[in-house]
Amino acid sequence: MKVRDIGEFGLIERIHARAGRSSYPVVIGIGDDASVLDVGPRNQVVTTTDMLVEGVHFLREAIDPFDLGFKSHAVNLSDIAAMGAAPAQSFLSLGLPPDMDVQIIDTFMDGFVEAGKGVPLSGGDTVSSPEGWLISVTVIGLAPAGRVLRRDAAEPGESIWLCGPLGDSAAGLSILLGQSKKVDDADAAFLIKRHNHPLPQLRMGRILLEAGISNCAIDVSDGLLQDLGHICESSHLGAELQLESIPLSDPIRRLAADNEVDPYQWALRGGEDYSILFTVSPDKEKKLRTVLEKEKIDAVPIGKIVPEAGIRVYRDGTEVETGPDGGYDHFRSHPEE
Ligand code: ADP
Ligand code: MG
Repeated sequence: MKVRDIGEFGLIERIHARAGRSSYPVVIGIGDDASVLDVGPRNQVVTTTDMLVEGVHFLREAIDPFDLGFKSHAVNLSDIAAMGAAPAQSFLSLGLPPDMDVQIIDTFMDGFVEAGKGVPLSGGDTVSSPEGWLISVTVIGLAPAGRVLRRDAAEPGESIWLCGPLGDSAAGLSILLGQSKKVDDADAAFLIKRHNHPLPQLRMGRILLEAGISNCAIDVSDGLLQDLGHICESSHLGAELQLESIPLSDPIRRLAADNEVDPYQWALRGGEDYSILFTVSPDKEKKLRTVLEKEKIDAVPIGKIVPEAGIRVYRDGTEVETGPDGGYDHFRSHPEE
């Protein structure tokens, strides 16, 4: 059996099964956006790690080194945001081709630091790489004990909310890959920026936790259907989505119209938006709306959690598709390609 036969998530399950049990106070291990360790009565330590590989996550000629540094840090900070935690320190490991210009690394570091907004780089590792650039980042965060936002904490009847853009990143990638041919220059710049320079929703995550508005969140890194699917599977529940409630930017609407494609496919199955998806019980919705207005944060309801397993998507009251399928899997065929 090959890795491609079981796919990314099958492989993670297999690794998980061999990891064995431990008596260490790990409250959340493999399976959420970050792991959570008990360290005392007040705080929990929240840790996440993500890797970027040249040719898989980025094309060296298609991304500015500043944006690459920014994105490497931002995608990790996004997992910390999805737990409702605050980042405390970061680690950076690099595998680099020896002929790489050091100026590129300087610019990469400027982007990395900018994304962290003061989070201290506290260590890492530097090695040579014969086949392109490897970037591995770890971020350690802190959260008040017992209150992190978990994937397995959704309840039936809760509404599903989205904070941040959806689909723009995949649309930007379609331009970079030459799949979207008819492109307005300003729209292309906007969408490619969304792809190369994602903004982690740290403030939203913190507010959800601190105001006690939500117990359940995930960041949308592999497409809405797949990531909402993780919440549904972990919580042993299902979801209904109203397609027309998903906000789309004007550039993605124009790009889709000009190229005669459905922009919602980018929103449902495209990856790398790094928005936050969270669930809210009916009695907390008023508080959420008040907080969003006060903090000037955009988040919208797009559906609800239901007892029946699976995700059903409705457009103007008619069921149009069922998910999750076709999100990003590192070892299976890719929808964007
Ligand atoms: P995310 O998209 O939030 O970064 P992933 O989908 O990459 O999460 O991973 C799902 C879960 O599996 C996470 O909890 C992650 O830490 C864990 N995981 C992924 N790869 C490995 C591995 N090689 N060993 C142990 N855990 C892993
Ligand atoms: Mg995540």
